[in-house]
Amino acid sequence: MKINRRNFLGTTAALGASAYLAGCSTAQTNQTSKIATPFFIGNPEKVLMPKGKAPRIVVAGGGWGGTVTAKYLRKMSPQAEVVLLERNPVFFSCPISNKWLVDMVDTNFLIQDYLQVSQKYGYQFIQCEILNINRDSRNVITNQGSIEYDYLVIAPGIRYNYEAWFGDDRETANATKARFPAAYIPNSEHFNLKRALHSFKGGDWVMTLPPPPQRCPPSPYERACMIAWYFKTNKIKAKVTILDHKDDVRPIGPGFKQAFRELYKDYIEYVPNAHIQKVDPFNKRIQTAAGDMKFDHAILMAPHQAGDLVWKADGIGINPQGKATGWADVDNKMLTLKKDDRVYVIGDAVGIVSPQFLFYPKSGHIANRHGKIVAAYISERLAGRDPKVSLPDNLCYMMVNGSPREAINVQFDYKINAQGIIEQTQIDYNQRSAAFVAENFKWAGLMFDDMFG
Ligand SMILES: Cc1cc2nc3c(=O)[nH]c(=O)nc-3n(C[C@H](O)[C@H](O)[C@H](O)COP(=O)(O)OP(=O)(O)OC[C@H]3O[C@@H](n4cnc5c(N)ncnc54)[C@H](O)[C@@H]3O)c2cc1C
Repeated sequence: MKINRRNFLGTTAALGASAYLAGCSTAQTNQTSKIATPFFIGNPEKVLMPKGKAPRIVVAGGGWGGTVTAKYLRKMSPQAEVVLLERNPVFFSCPISNKWLVDMVDTNFLIQDYLQVSQKYGYQFIQCEILNINRDSRNVITNQGSIEYDYLVIAPGIRYNYEAWFGDDRETANATKARFPAAYIPNSEHFNLKRALHSFKGGDWVMTLPPPPQRCPPSPYERACMIAWYFKTNKIKAKVTILDHKDDVRPIGPGFKQAFRELYKDYIEYVPNAHIQKVDPFNKRIQTAAGDMKFDHAILMAPHQAGDLVWKADGIGINPQGKATGWADVDNKMLTLKKDDRVYVIGDAVGIVSPQFLFYPKSGHIANRHGKIVAAYISERLAGRDPKVSLPDNLCYMMVNGSPREAINVQFDYKINAQGIIEQTQIDYNQRSAAFVAENFKWAGLMFDDMFG
């Protein structure tokens, strides 16, 4: 083929014009010039994925709520383009992690792969850090580039409100997180906690429980039981002191307290109304309204709030005193931001939904239900129909004994009453049983399958 200007440029474009020309100019001028970045390295200043004609739904956060939203959106609206943005390369489950801490289950049971499921259902999974959300231009800005949406589902989980303890003293907050992690957000904290537990030689082990609303309210009591069981089984002379902000154990209080009394009399001490006044991670001291403590190890849980992304989307509610509520201000039935009906918030980040019970329990089960509900709402809107209101349910198993393995259970149901208010019914099953343990693992298997199967 004779090389003329036209086919030369055509060939060059096929090779990647900018890279080729950048190389040429360097060779010609011998000056330093910017090397074109390979496409998949990403660049926050560039467009991550150009938008085509298909409606696009971006799901921000691939935890219990986000993964199921992406899958069901593709099932319900195959014509839509669905993109899931998540910072972690691997999914790690908080539910069941208390049993994993004491080696009742293997790590493999808790981790899942994002890439295979996204291929199977035809959504894009992009591992990235979401930096900002611009609702005016309908853009999500990530460290890989920005991405436009028609609808956005924010599923960010929680953040730790260390500011409530330390103001803007980041050094102390970081020291607290590194030395005495809460392990309530899946990342290295869980592994750090497990290492601390398995190398603990004995002494005072303290757990601070945050004020409500918090992620999975019964799970700190389950964690206390599992740790106490581990100490008892391994004959470690240690005591778990639960410093609870609340005035009593809730939910399934009688079931947990029976376990504390009957199984862990010498291993668990429960302290109600222990409002935190000062935390000193360097000298291992805590001051509370119910007394002060020195500890050998601790799980220091700062108050919980909606994950950063709701703050970045300017979706946090304001209370009557003009202060941030810390949680997403949503339409209680549609789960859209009150300020923006193209933006949904699901899972733990959701704010007050009812004057009767205030918040939905912040659980994986609710996040799963929210994901499917919102996928159906968006699909209806894409089809030009008004979505019909649907409400979640909740189910939670908490293991209290390791030998024999026994659990207790709580269930919640929701309905809209004659006044249009969402009403909650709660049933606590306080009698510990082996059957609940079997149900718990079955529940987890079904949930993982729903997200990743
Ligand atoms: C010890 C423990 C035990 C529990 N047990 C149970 C149980 O038995 N049953 C139950 O139903 N629930 C349980 N839970 C609660 C459950 O884990 C949460 O309620 C659930 O994970 C909430 O789902 P979510 O989608 O709202 O948030 P998450 O599952 O936390 O997902 C949020 C996702 O968003 C991502 N993300 C956040 N910000 C960004 C960003 N800027 N860029 C990119 N990605 C971002 C995060 O990495 C994360 O993957 C338990 C929790 C704990 C800690």
